[in-house]
Amino acid sequence: MRLILLGPPGAGKGTQAQHLVAKYGIVQLSTGDMLRAAVKAGTALGRQVGDIMARGALCPDDVVITIVEQRIAQPDAGKGFILDGFPRTVAQAEALDRMLAKHGIALDAVIELRVDEAALLKRIENRIAEMQSRGEALRPDDNPDVLHRRLLAYREQTAPLIAYYRRHGILRSVDGMAPIADVAAAIEGVLTSAPSQPQLARSSTVKRAAQAAKPGIGKKSKARATTTRRKPDPTAGKRSANKPKSRAKARPSSKARAAKRRR
Ligand code: ADP
Repeated sequence: MRLILLGPPGAGKGTQAQHLVAKYGIVQLSTGDMLRAAVKAGTALGRQVGDIMARGALCPDDVVITIVEQRIAQPDAGKGFILDGFPRTVAQAEALDRMLAKHGIALDAVIELRVDEAALLKRIENRIAEMQSRGEALRPDDNPDVLHRRLLAYREQTAPLIAYYRRHGILRSVDGMAPIADVAAAIEGVLTSAPSQPQLARSSTVKRAAQAAKPGIGKKSKARATTTRRKPDPTAGKRSANKPKSRAKARPSSKARAAKRRR
């Protein structure tokens, strides 16, 4: 079983991942945990990402992609895994597709935990208060300001993955606002109804999905996506074949223009 859990910070990905680990005997691969461990150990990578994480921004794609690729190659991931916190950008999702194809494996499902953002902030604030009351150390990015930035990063860079995986045909959405046990049951439900043969998108579909899923859905990116969609139009060849003729009619050749000037 190979899964991705998708959802904003505080959506309950970690909690649900633990259920799935127990249920299927697969490993949870949390890029957040891996990066925090590197920061704690003071490795070169940890020094590179420490400040970025404390700010609530995303770490560079190449750094995260490398650690995931190394982790997936470990023997304990052979039976299956749950990716929690990865991919977080379309570039990471594309890198993951390439990585899995190289190893001849495919994802079974991408589970989106749908949540209400206002309630989410409350949830995380409660979690912080509870941890503080237990005297537990907080993560440097567990404060309301940074949390807002983490949510913004999710909205701008990660939410486009919902469209990306929907196009792949492997997105399954569940209501993440329900009680923990209900969310776990809903995930169980979508997994048993998931197609046993994951549908792999053709590369052209992947490219189009990536285009359409690009963050900043302003007019510019829409226009770009439309242009890309138009390219494979079967009549395009005919139209361009007609072009030189009509242009010749509308505009005399440079030779003819030069001759006219001489006259
Ligand atoms: P959250 O509690 O917001 O879900 P995580 O524990 O998954 O956060 O990650 C914490 C921080 O680690 C992120 O804010 C980001 O700086 C970094 N990080 C984790 N995963 C990724 C990733 N896939 N790409 C880039 N940065 C990441």
